[in-house]
Amino acid sequence: MDRTKSDQLHHEALSHLVGGVNSPVRAFKSVHGNPIYFEKASGAHVTDVDGNVLVDFVQSWGPLIHGHSHPDIIEAVHEKMLNGTSFGAPHLGEIELAKRVKNRFSHMDKVRFVSSGTEAVMSAVRLARGYTGRDILVKFEGCYHGHVDSLMVSSGSGLATFGIASSPGIPQDTVATTLICPLDDLEAVEYLFNEHGGEIAAVVIEPLPANNGLLVQRPEFLHGLRNLCDQHGALLIFDEVISGFRFQGGSYGDLCGVTPDLTALGKVIGGGLPVGAYGARSEIMEQLSPLGPVYQAGTLSGNPLAMAAGAKTLDMLSEGAYQHMEHLGSLLEERLGVVLEKHGYPMRMVRRESLFWLSPGDGNPAVRADQIPNDAAALYADVHQALLERGYMLAPSAYEIGFISTSHDESHILGLVEAMDDALSSLEW
Ligand SMILES: *Cc1c(COP(=O)(O)O)cnc(C)c1O
Repeated sequence: MDRTKSDQLHHEALSHLVGGVNSPVRAFKSVHGNPIYFEKASGAHVTDVDGNVLVDFVQSWGPLIHGHSHPDIIEAVHEKMLNGTSFGAPHLGEIELAKRVKNRFSHMDKVRFVSSGTEAVMSAVRLARGYTGRDILVKFEGCYHGHVDSLMVSSGSGLATFGIASSPGIPQDTVATTLICPLDDLEAVEYLFNEHGGEIAAVVIEPLPANNGLLVQRPEFLHGLRNLCDQHGALLIFDEVISGFRFQGGSYGDLCGVTPDLTALGKVIGGGLPVGAYGARSEIMEQLSPLGPVYQAGTLSGNPLAMAAGAKTLDMLSEGAYQHMEHLGSLLEERLGVVLEKHGYPMRMVRRESLFWLSPGDGNPAVRADQIPNDAAALYADVHQALLERGYMLAPSAYEIGFISTSHDESHILGLVEAMDDALSSLEW
């Protein structure tokens, strides 16, 4: 596949943008080759600057649940744009998207819109601390909550410890109020509550951890977190930035029968434009300024174009849309499973509706970050490149998941399976 122009642009970008990219995982650092420059995209397909057409299972890392440039979403945004791109003042579109979000997340009496998932989680954490008057956060190894200082934390030497900053530039004092636990280990969380119960403001978790592989948690674990929070007066924050609106039956929390106090959202609710949101019952949300003392603001928050793209996206998530994605997901799971087994490739498919992950290794799929084999990246890099050569785009990292959209159809799924079959015939491991 010729990528001359892509490589030229990447070379030029290196003089202007750090590593040529504005978000690190786009850099193809953990897979072979350079990033691919896209020119346009439609439905399930992206076209790069060299004219190659790829079937895309990244879909902008999750927001595009209806595929690229869906005509109805484009039209909704275009119509709004003619009336102005930003008001810095209230408008009907905010109410419309808030109603749609509340429809699905029934524990929310009130919603606050922001412009990214990072901002949503950061603000939810501030609100939880303000509401409880406590400082300590509990987070889990292998969950990503955006690049928030207090949540960019890795575990120290022990199993349940105060964390260490996972990036330079984050003061130790900031992370000193974050406790870190392994996923799927309720005893570790219990231990933390026994030690620090009265100081813990909130437990924050992706109920379906999907940023370090797809580490599916037992519903009992989430129930256990709910109980511990209740016993100790801490809030439970679900980060559903990636999982929100991906499930026909409701939020991922609903599917597990666990209701959080606060939920953070992003990705799908912006329909491809920058939107994040957080919400909770009134008593908590009314601590936010202008009603309460907890400050949080945004010049572009509730942006009219973004609200319109989000509302149209959610309106198009009919029962049929979810059934279509579930059908494609189960087809992929079944057929890809057969191909992986036929070649004996040490990889398994993990899936929840339209979200899937190629889990490295032969054993049971990982449910904790430390269960992911060390050779995951190497195993994945070869597969990624071989699929790309055959016209199929998966995320350029072994730890990122794949996304099925309503714009995919059986031919894209079967094509991916066939490409994998062909790719594995040519690979050695
Ligand atoms: C993507 C993501 C974020 C960060 O959202 P951005 O819009 O990239 O800032 C936070 N939490 C989860 C679970 C995510 O998947």
